[in-house]
Amino acid sequence: MAEGWEPAQQDLLDRLAREEIAHLWVAYADYNGRSQGKSLPRARFESTLRNGVTFAQANLGHTVLDIGAPDTMFGAASGDFFAVPDADSYAPLPLFPATGRVFCWMRHEGGAPWEGDPRWMLQRQVDALTDLGFTAQVAFEPEGYLFRVGDDGQPAPADPRGMFTLDGLETNADLLHRISDALEAMDVGIEQIATEYGPGQFEVNIRHASPIKAAEDLLTVRDVTRALARREGLVASFMPKPFETAAGSGLHVHLSLWDRNGESVMAEPGAHPSGLSAAGRAFLAGLLSHAPALAGIGAPTVNSYKRLLPGSWAPAHAAYAVGNRSTFVRIPGGARPRIEVRSGDSTANPYLYLAALLAAGVEGLREGADPGPPAEGDLGHLSREETTERGIAMLPRRAPEALDLVEGDVLMRETLGPVIFAEWLKVKRAEIALYETTVSPWERTAYLRT
Ligand code: GLU
Ligand code: MG
Repeated sequence: MAEGWEPAQQDLLDRLAREEIAHLWVAYADYNGRSQGKSLPRARFESTLRNGVTFAQANLGHTVLDIGAPDTMFGAASGDFFAVPDADSYAPLPLFPATGRVFCWMRHEGGAPWEGDPRWMLQRQVDALTDLGFTAQVAFEPEGYLFRVGDDGQPAPADPRGMFTLDGLETNADLLHRISDALEAMDVGIEQIATEYGPGQFEVNIRHASPIKAAEDLLTVRDVTRALARREGLVASFMPKPFETAAGSGLHVHLSLWDRNGESVMAEPGAHPSGLSAAGRAFLAGLLSHAPALAGIGAPTVNSYKRLLPGSWAPAHAAYAVGNRSTFVRIPGGARPRIEVRSGDSTANPYLYLAALLAAGVEGLREGADPGPPAEGDLGHLSREETTERGIAMLPRRAPEALDLVEGDVLMRETLGPVIFAEWLKVKRAEIALYETTVSPWERTAYLRT
Protein backbone atom coordinates (compact mmCIF):
# COMPACT_ATOMS: atom_id res chain seq x y z
CA MET A 1 0.00 0.00 0.00
CA ALA A 2 2.58 2.59 1.04
CA GLU A 3 4.89 1.54 -1.79
CA GLY A 4 2.07 1.68 -4.33
CA TRP A 5 0.71 5.01 -5.54
CA GLU A 6 -2.65 4.30 -7.04
CA PRO A 7 -4.57 6.44 -9.55
CA ALA A 8 -7.24 7.13 -6.89
CA GLN A 9 -4.62 8.68 -4.60
CA GLN A 10 -3.28 10.90 -7.37
CA ASP A 11 -6.87 11.86 -8.31
CA LEU A 12 -7.55 12.86 -4.70
CA LEU A 13 -4.33 14.85 -4.48
CA ASP A 14 -5.32 16.70 -7.69
CA ARG A 15 -8.82 17.29 -6.35
CA LEU A 16 -7.55 18.71 -3.07
CA ALA A 17 -5.41 21.16 -5.04
CA ARG A 18 -8.20 22.04 -7.50
CA GLU A 19 -10.74 22.64 -4.72
CA GLU A 20 -8.16 24.62 -2.72
CA ILE A 21 -8.49 22.42 0.33
CA ALA A 22 -6.18 23.66 3.06
CA HIS A 23 -6.95 21.18 5.87
CA LEU A 24 -7.46 17.44 5.59
CA TRP A 25 -8.97 15.55 8.48
CA VAL A 26 -7.85 11.92 8.58
CA ALA A 27 -10.25 9.76 10.54
CA TYR A 28 -10.81 6.26 11.85
CA ALA A 29 -13.16 4.81 14.48
CA ASP A 30 -11.93 3.47 17.82
CA TYR A 31 -13.29 0.24 19.29
CA ASN A 32 -16.06 2.24 20.98
CA GLY A 33 -17.23 3.51 17.58
CA ARG A 34 -16.02 7.07 18.17
CA SER A 35 -14.55 8.88 15.16
CA GLN A 36 -11.01 9.94 15.93
CA GLY A 37 -8.45 11.75 13.82
CA LYS A 38 -6.14 14.64 13.09
CA SER A 39 -6.11 17.68 10.83
CA LEU A 40 -3.23 17.90 8.35
CA PRO A 41 -2.09 21.05 6.56
CA ARG A 42 -1.62 21.21 2.79
CA ALA A 43 2.12 20.55 2.94
CA ARG A 44 1.42 17.10 4.42
CA PHE A 45 -1.22 15.94 1.92
CA GLU A 46 1.03 13.93 -0.37
CA SER A 47 3.01 12.20 2.37
CA THR A 48 -0.27 11.46 4.20
CA LEU A 49 -1.84 9.87 1.15
CA ARG A 50 1.36 7.95 0.47
CA ASN A 51 2.38 6.72 3.93
CA GLY A 52 -0.40 7.61 6.30
CA VAL A 53 -0.25 9.39 9.64
CA THR A 54 0.85 7.77 12.89
CA PHE A 55 -1.38 7.24 15.90
CA ALA A 56 -0.52 5.45 19.13
CA GLN A 57 -1.96 1.95 19.26
CA ALA A 58 -2.66 2.84 22.90
CA ASN A 59 -5.57 5.02 21.68
CA LEU A 60 -7.46 1.79 21.04
CA GLY A 61 -7.03 0.40 24.55
CA HIS A 62 -9.24 3.08 26.10
CA THR A 63 -12.86 3.12 27.23
CA VAL A 64 -15.33 5.89 26.28
CA LEU A 65 -14.28 7.60 29.52
CA ASP A 66 -10.73 7.83 28.12
CA ILE A 67 -9.56 5.53 30.90
CA GLY A 68 -7.25 2.77 29.70
CA ALA A 69 -8.33 -0.86 30.11
CA PRO A 70 -5.95 -2.17 32.82
CA ASP A 71 -4.98 -5.35 30.97
CA THR A 72 -4.80 -4.03 27.37
CA MET A 73 -1.90 -5.04 25.14
CA PHE A 74 -1.94 -1.47 23.75
CA GLY A 75 0.27 0.13 26.38
CA ALA A 76 2.88 2.88 26.33
CA ALA A 77 5.35 0.51 24.67
CA SER A 78 3.07 -0.88 21.94
CA GLY A 79 4.07 1.63 19.25
CA ASP A 80 2.02 3.13 16.43
CA PHE A 81 -0.28 2.25 13.60
CA PHE A 82 -0.37 4.18 10.34
CA ALA A 83 -3.73 5.68 9.34
CA VAL A 84 -3.59 5.47 5.54
CA PRO A 85 -6.43 7.29 3.74
CA ASP A 86 -8.77 5.40 1.43
CA ALA A 87 -9.17 7.98 -1.33
CA ASP A 88 -12.67 6.67 -2.16
CA SER A 89 -13.94 7.77 1.24
CA TYR A 90 -13.00 11.43 0.80
CA ALA A 91 -15.66 14.13 1.23
CA PRO A 92 -15.48 17.89 1.62
CA LEU A 93 -16.32 18.98 5.18
CA PRO A 94 -18.81 21.82 4.77
CA LEU A 95 -18.68 22.70 8.48
CA PHE A 96 -15.42 24.57 7.88
CA PRO A 97 -14.01 26.45 4.88
CA ALA A 98 -11.38 24.72 2.70
CA THR A 99 -11.58 21.51 4.73
CA GLY A 100 -11.97 17.86 3.72
CA ARG A 101 -12.25 14.55 5.54
CA VAL A 102 -11.08 11.07 4.61
CA PHE A 103 -11.39 7.71 6.40
CA CYS A 104 -8.37 5.49 6.82
CA TRP A 105 -7.07 1.96 6.93
CA MET A 106 -4.91 1.17 9.96
CA ARG A 107 -1.64 -0.24 8.63
CA HIS A 108 1.75 -1.41 9.78
CA GLU A 109 4.67 0.77 8.76
CA GLY A 110 5.32 -0.18 5.13
CA GLY A 111 1.64 -0.64 4.41
CA ALA A 112 0.72 -4.21 5.40
CA PRO A 113 -2.78 -4.55 6.91
CA TRP A 114 -2.80 -4.43 10.72
CA GLU A 115 -4.86 -6.97 12.69
CA GLY A 116 -6.11 -4.17 14.95
CA ASP A 117 -8.02 -2.45 12.11
CA PRO A 118 -11.86 -2.80 12.28
CA ARG A 119 -12.20 -1.45 8.71
CA TRP A 120 -10.03 -4.29 7.44
CA MET A 121 -12.08 -6.85 9.39
CA LEU A 122 -15.15 -5.59 7.57
CA GLN A 123 -13.36 -5.68 4.22
CA ARG A 124 -12.52 -9.37 4.83
CA GLN A 125 -16.25 -10.16 5.15
CA VAL A 126 -17.09 -8.11 2.05
CA ASP A 127 -14.51 -10.27 0.23
CA ALA A 128 -15.99 -13.49 1.64
CA LEU A 129 -19.39 -12.48 0.30
CA THR A 130 -17.89 -11.61 -3.09
CA ASP A 131 -16.36 -15.12 -3.23
CA LEU A 132 -19.89 -16.50 -2.92
CA GLY A 133 -21.06 -14.30 -5.81
CA PHE A 134 -22.85 -11.60 -3.77
CA THR A 135 -22.47 -8.03 -2.65
CA ALA A 136 -24.33 -6.50 0.28
CA GLN A 137 -26.11 -3.18 0.51
CA VAL A 138 -26.49 -1.70 3.97
CA ALA A 139 -28.64 1.13 5.32
CA PHE A 140 -28.34 2.38 8.90
CA GLU A 141 -31.15 4.15 10.73
CA PRO A 142 -29.70 5.96 13.74
CA GLU A 143 -32.10 7.40 16.31
CA GLY A 144 -31.05 10.14 18.69
CA TYR A 145 -32.23 13.02 20.91
CA LEU A 146 -31.74 16.77 20.84
CA PHE A 147 -31.19 18.05 24.36
CA ARG A 148 -30.80 21.48 25.86
CA VAL A 149 -28.62 21.57 28.96
CA GLY A 150 -30.32 23.58 31.71
CA ASP A 151 -28.80 25.89 34.32
CA ASP A 152 -28.68 22.88 36.64
CA GLY A 153 -26.34 21.16 34.13
CA GLN A 154 -28.98 18.53 33.33
CA PRO A 155 -30.08 17.70 29.76
CA ALA A 156 -33.77 18.13 28.94
CA PRO A 157 -35.51 17.39 25.62
CA ALA A 158 -35.02 20.29 23.19
CA ASP A 159 -38.69 20.12 22.27
CA PRO A 160 -41.56 18.65 24.24
CA ARG A 161 -43.90 18.20 21.23
CA GLY A 162 -45.95 15.08 20.49
CA MET A 163 -44.66 12.04 18.65
CA PHE A 164 -44.08 12.41 14.90
CA THR A 165 -45.88 15.76 14.82
CA LEU A 166 -45.11 18.49 12.33
CA ASP A 167 -45.05 20.75 15.39
CA GLY A 168 -42.05 18.79 16.62
CA LEU A 169 -40.45 18.97 13.19
CA GLU A 170 -41.12 22.70 13.00
CA THR A 171 -39.37 23.37 16.32
CA ASN A 172 -36.04 22.08 15.03
CA ALA A 173 -36.57 22.29 11.26
CA ASP A 174 -33.79 24.83 10.58
CA LEU A 175 -31.26 22.62 12.32
CA LEU A 176 -32.54 19.39 10.76
CA HIS A 177 -32.45 20.96 7.28
CA ARG A 178 -28.90 22.21 7.84
CA ILE A 179 -27.89 18.70 8.90
CA SER A 180 -29.52 17.19 5.82
CA ASP A 181 -27.87 19.72 3.47
CA ALA A 182 -24.41 19.22 5.01
CA LEU A 183 -24.76 15.46 4.68
CA GLU A 184 -25.84 15.69 1.03
CA ALA A 185 -22.79 17.88 0.38
CA MET A 186 -20.67 15.08 1.87
CA ASP A 187 -22.24 12.49 -0.45
CA VAL A 188 -24.20 10.86 2.36
CA GLY A 189 -27.59 9.98 0.87
CA ILE A 190 -30.46 10.86 3.19
CA GLU A 191 -33.80 9.12 2.66
CA GLN A 192 -35.58 11.06 5.38
CA ILE A 193 -35.14 12.82 8.70
CA ALA A 194 -38.08 12.53 11.06
CA THR A 195 -39.03 13.24 14.64
CA GLU A 196 -39.43 10.01 16.59
CA TYR A 197 -41.51 8.75 19.49
CA GLY A 198 -39.71 10.47 22.38
CA PRO A 199 -39.76 14.23 23.07
CA GLY A 200 -36.84 15.76 21.14
CA GLN A 201 -36.10 12.39 19.54
CA PHE A 202 -35.30 12.12 15.84
CA GLU A 203 -34.26 9.52 13.31
CA VAL A 204 -32.10 9.77 10.20
CA ASN A 205 -32.69 7.19 7.48
CA ILE A 206 -29.45 6.92 5.55
CA ARG A 207 -29.55 5.72 1.95
CA HIS A 208 -28.19 2.22 1.39
CA ALA A 209 -24.58 1.82 0.28
CA SER A 210 -21.78 -0.74 0.22
CA PRO A 211 -20.86 -1.92 3.77
CA ILE A 212 -17.76 0.24 4.31
CA LYS A 213 -19.43 3.35 2.92
CA ALA A 214 -22.52 2.64 5.05
CA ALA A 215 -20.39 2.38 8.22
CA GLU A 216 -18.68 5.66 7.37
CA ASP A 217 -21.89 7.41 6.38
CA LEU A 218 -23.16 6.54 9.86
CA LEU A 219 -20.06 8.01 11.51
CA THR A 220 -20.52 11.12 9.37
CA VAL A 221 -24.20 11.47 10.28
CA ARG A 222 -23.40 11.30 13.99
CA ASP A 223 -20.43 13.68 13.77
CA VAL A 224 -22.21 16.26 11.61
CA THR A 225 -25.40 16.11 13.68
CA ARG A 226 -23.51 16.60 16.94
CA ALA A 227 -21.41 19.43 15.49
CA LEU A 228 -24.35 21.39 14.03
CA ALA A 229 -26.48 20.90 17.16
CA ARG A 230 -23.58 22.20 19.25
CA ARG A 231 -23.60 25.38 17.18
CA GLU A 232 -27.23 25.88 18.27
CA GLY A 233 -26.34 25.33 21.90
CA LEU A 234 -27.95 21.88 21.80
CA VAL A 235 -26.57 18.43 22.50
CA ALA A 236 -27.34 15.70 19.94
CA SER A 237 -27.09 12.34 21.69
CA PHE A 238 -27.21 8.85 20.19
CA MET A 239 -27.01 7.21 23.64
CA PRO A 240 -29.24 4.10 23.65
CA LYS A 241 -31.36 5.04 26.70
CA PRO A 242 -30.76 8.54 28.02
CA PHE A 243 -33.82 8.48 30.32
CA GLU A 244 -35.59 5.46 31.77
CA THR A 245 -38.95 7.12 31.10
CA ALA A 246 -38.47 7.93 27.39
CA ALA A 247 -38.08 5.79 24.26
CA GLY A 248 -34.63 4.38 23.58
CA SER A 249 -32.54 5.23 20.55
CA GLY A 250 -31.75 2.27 18.35
CA LEU A 251 -29.57 1.72 15.32
CA HIS A 252 -31.52 -0.46 12.93
CA VAL A 253 -29.51 -2.01 10.10
CA HIS A 254 -31.13 -2.91 6.77
CA LEU A 255 -29.25 -5.57 4.82
CA SER A 256 -29.80 -6.88 1.31
CA LEU A 257 -27.88 -9.20 -1.00
CA TRP A 258 -27.26 -8.40 -4.65
CA ASP A 259 -25.82 -10.48 -7.46
CA ARG A 260 -22.90 -9.68 -9.77
CA ASN A 261 -25.25 -7.88 -12.18
CA GLY A 262 -26.35 -5.45 -9.49
CA GLU A 263 -29.81 -7.04 -9.03
CA SER A 264 -31.24 -7.60 -5.56
CA VAL A 265 -31.65 -11.31 -4.86
CA MET A 266 -33.68 -10.98 -1.65
CA ALA A 267 -37.22 -11.65 -2.82
CA GLU A 268 -39.01 -14.70 -4.12
CA PRO A 269 -42.73 -14.05 -3.69
CA GLY A 270 -44.68 -17.10 -2.66
CA ALA A 271 -41.60 -19.27 -1.98
CA HIS A 272 -41.82 -18.91 1.80
CA PRO A 273 -43.94 -17.03 4.36
CA SER A 274 -41.05 -14.58 4.80
CA GLY A 275 -41.19 -13.63 1.10
CA LEU A 276 -37.41 -14.12 1.02
CA SER A 277 -35.45 -16.00 -1.64
CA ALA A 278 -33.36 -19.07 -0.78
CA ALA A 279 -30.26 -16.85 -0.47
CA GLY A 280 -32.11 -14.32 1.70
CA ARG A 281 -33.41 -17.10 3.96
CA ALA A 282 -29.98 -18.73 4.35
CA PHE A 283 -28.41 -15.36 5.20
CA LEU A 284 -31.18 -14.70 7.74
CA ALA A 285 -30.72 -18.17 9.30
CA GLY A 286 -27.03 -17.37 9.80
CA LEU A 287 -27.97 -14.17 11.63
CA LEU A 288 -30.45 -15.99 13.85
CA SER A 289 -28.01 -18.72 14.82
CA HIS A 290 -25.55 -16.07 16.08
CA ALA A 291 -28.20 -13.67 17.41
CA PRO A 292 -26.99 -13.52 21.06
CA ALA A 293 -23.39 -12.69 20.08
CA LEU A 294 -24.54 -10.27 17.37
CA ALA A 295 -26.67 -8.51 19.95
CA GLY A 296 -23.55 -8.23 22.12
CA ILE A 297 -21.38 -6.69 19.38
CA GLY A 298 -24.18 -4.32 18.31
CA ALA A 299 -25.19 -3.36 21.85
CA PRO A 300 -22.03 -3.63 23.97
CA THR A 301 -22.61 -1.25 26.90
CA VAL A 302 -24.48 -1.26 30.21
CA ASN A 303 -26.80 1.41 28.84
CA SER A 304 -27.67 -0.77 25.80
CA TYR A 305 -29.53 -3.20 28.07
CA LYS A 306 -31.72 -0.50 29.55
CA ARG A 307 -33.07 -0.10 26.00
CA LEU A 308 -33.39 -3.76 25.00
CA LEU A 309 -36.41 -4.56 27.18
CA PRO A 310 -39.30 -6.90 26.45
CA GLY A 311 -42.40 -4.90 25.57
CA SER A 312 -40.52 -1.94 24.09
CA TRP A 313 -39.98 -1.64 20.36
CA ALA A 314 -36.39 -2.62 20.94
CA PRO A 315 -36.15 -6.42 20.69
CA ALA A 316 -35.49 -8.82 23.54
CA HIS A 317 -36.06 -12.06 21.57
CA ALA A 318 -33.78 -13.89 19.10
CA ALA A 319 -36.52 -14.40 16.53
CA TYR A 320 -37.60 -12.94 13.21
CA ALA A 321 -40.98 -11.82 11.97
CA VAL A 322 -42.63 -10.18 8.99
CA GLY A 323 -43.68 -6.58 9.56
CA ASN A 324 -43.55 -7.05 13.34
CA ARG A 325 -41.32 -4.67 15.35
CA SER A 326 -40.90 -6.81 18.46
CA THR A 327 -38.19 -9.15 17.14
CA PHE A 328 -34.41 -9.21 16.59
CA VAL A 329 -35.00 -9.23 12.82
CA ARG A 330 -37.93 -7.69 11.01
CA ILE A 331 -38.64 -8.38 7.34
CA PRO A 332 -40.21 -5.06 6.34
CA GLY A 333 -41.74 -6.40 3.09
CA GLY A 334 -42.84 -3.85 0.52
CA ALA A 335 -41.17 -3.07 -2.76
CA ARG A 336 -37.58 -3.56 -1.57
CA PRO A 337 -37.36 -6.76 0.48
CA ARG A 338 -34.56 -6.73 2.98
CA ILE A 339 -33.55 -7.86 6.45
CA GLU A 340 -33.75 -5.31 9.27
CA VAL A 341 -31.67 -6.13 12.36
CA ARG A 342 -33.13 -4.13 15.27
CA SER A 343 -31.03 -4.92 18.34
CA GLY A 344 -27.97 -2.66 17.84
CA ASP A 345 -27.35 0.89 19.02
CA SER A 346 -24.87 3.69 18.49
CA THR A 347 -22.46 2.47 21.17
CA ALA A 348 -21.32 -0.19 18.66
CA ASN A 349 -18.33 0.20 16.35
CA PRO A 350 -20.15 0.07 12.99
CA TYR A 351 -17.32 -1.69 11.11
CA LEU A 352 -17.18 -4.48 13.70
CA TYR A 353 -20.95 -4.73 13.92
CA LEU A 354 -21.28 -5.07 10.14
CA ALA A 355 -18.34 -7.49 9.93
CA ALA A 356 -20.09 -9.69 12.51
CA LEU A 357 -23.47 -9.50 10.74
CA LEU A 358 -21.96 -10.32 7.34
CA ALA A 359 -19.89 -13.18 8.76
CA ALA A 360 -23.00 -14.74 10.29
CA GLY A 361 -24.89 -14.30 7.01
CA VAL A 362 -22.00 -15.77 5.00
CA GLU A 363 -21.98 -18.82 7.27
CA GLY A 364 -25.71 -19.25 6.70
CA LEU A 365 -25.22 -18.98 2.91
CA ARG A 366 -22.41 -21.55 2.93
CA GLU A 367 -24.56 -23.98 4.92
CA GLY A 368 -27.78 -23.29 3.03
CA ALA A 369 -29.32 -22.79 6.48
CA ASP A 370 -33.08 -22.59 7.14
CA PRO A 371 -34.54 -19.85 9.39
CA GLY A 372 -37.80 -21.76 10.02
CA PRO A 373 -41.15 -19.95 9.96
CA PRO A 374 -41.47 -16.33 11.05
CA ALA A 375 -42.73 -15.63 14.58
CA GLU A 376 -46.31 -14.37 15.00
CA GLY A 377 -47.66 -11.74 17.36
CA ASP A 378 -46.02 -9.25 19.70
CA LEU A 379 -43.28 -11.29 21.38
CA GLY A 380 -42.62 -8.44 23.81
CA HIS A 381 -45.70 -9.41 25.79
CA LEU A 382 -45.15 -13.18 25.98
CA SER A 383 -44.62 -14.61 29.43
CA ARG A 384 -41.37 -16.44 30.12
CA GLU A 385 -43.29 -19.78 29.98
CA GLU A 386 -44.84 -18.97 26.59
CA THR A 387 -41.43 -17.94 25.26
CA THR A 388 -39.91 -21.26 26.34
CA GLU A 389 -42.89 -23.24 24.99
CA ARG A 390 -42.52 -21.63 21.59
CA GLY A 391 -38.78 -22.39 21.58
CA ILE A 392 -37.83 -18.71 21.28
CA ALA A 393 -34.44 -17.75 22.72
CA MET A 394 -33.92 -14.47 24.55
CA LEU A 395 -31.25 -11.98 23.59
CA PRO A 396 -28.77 -11.25 26.41
CA ARG A 397 -30.31 -9.25 29.26
CA ARG A 398 -27.14 -7.63 30.65
CA ALA A 399 -23.90 -6.31 29.18
CA PRO A 400 -21.57 -8.75 31.02
CA GLU A 401 -23.66 -11.69 29.76
CA ALA A 402 -23.63 -10.23 26.23
CA LEU A 403 -19.83 -9.97 26.23
CA ASP A 404 -19.53 -13.56 27.53
CA LEU A 405 -21.74 -14.68 24.64
CA VAL A 406 -19.51 -12.86 22.14
CA GLU A 407 -16.47 -14.48 23.73
CA GLY A 408 -18.04 -17.92 23.43
CA ASP A 409 -18.89 -17.57 19.74
CA VAL A 410 -16.12 -19.11 17.60
CA LEU A 411 -17.28 -17.34 14.45
CA MET A 412 -17.08 -13.95 16.16
CA ARG A 413 -13.59 -14.79 17.39
CA GLU A 414 -12.50 -15.55 13.81
CA THR A 415 -14.32 -12.54 12.40
CA LEU A 416 -12.79 -9.95 14.71
CA GLY A 417 -9.36 -11.62 14.56
CA PRO A 418 -7.13 -12.27 17.58
CA VAL A 419 -6.14 -8.65 18.28
CA ILE A 420 -9.52 -6.94 18.11
CA PHE A 421 -11.39 -9.84 19.67
CA ALA A 422 -9.18 -9.74 22.77
CA GLU A 423 -8.80 -5.97 23.03
CA TRP A 424 -12.41 -5.06 22.28
CA LEU A 425 -13.54 -7.40 25.08
CA LYS A 426 -11.01 -5.90 27.49
CA VAL A 427 -12.09 -2.34 26.71
CA LYS A 428 -15.79 -3.11 27.05
CA ARG A 429 -15.27 -5.10 30.26
CA ALA A 430 -13.16 -2.30 31.73
CA GLU A 431 -16.08 0.06 31.08
CA ILE A 432 -18.48 -2.30 32.85
CA ALA A 433 -16.11 -2.58 35.81
CA LEU A 434 -16.04 1.22 36.14
CA TYR A 435 -19.85 1.30 36.04
CA GLU A 436 -20.25 -1.46 38.58
CA THR A 437 -18.08 0.28 41.15
CA THR A 438 -19.92 3.60 40.75
CA VAL A 439 -22.60 4.28 43.35
CA SER A 440 -25.63 5.84 41.63
CA PRO A 441 -28.19 8.35 42.98
CA TRP A 442 -30.76 5.55 42.78
CA GLU A 443 -28.78 3.51 45.27
CA ARG A 444 -28.64 6.44 47.72
CA THR A 445 -32.38 6.93 47.35
CA ALA A 446 -32.99 3.27 48.06
CA TYR A 447 -30.38 2.49 50.70
CA LEU A 448 -29.13 5.65 52.41
CA ARG A 449 -31.50 5.20 55.33
CA THR A 450 -30.54 1.61 55.79
N1 GLU B 1 -36.80 3.51 19.32
C1 GLU B 1 -36.99 2.09 19.10
C2 GLU B 1 -35.70 1.34 19.46
O1 GLU B 1 -35.14 1.66 20.43
C3 GLU B 1 -37.43 1.76 17.67
C4 GLU B 1 -38.62 2.50 17.15
C5 GLU B 1 -38.85 2.21 15.68
O2 GLU B 1 -39.32 1.10 15.35
O3 GLU B 1 -38.48 3.04 14.85
O4 GLU B 1 -35.24 0.47 18.78
MG1 MG C 1 -37.32 4.58 14.43
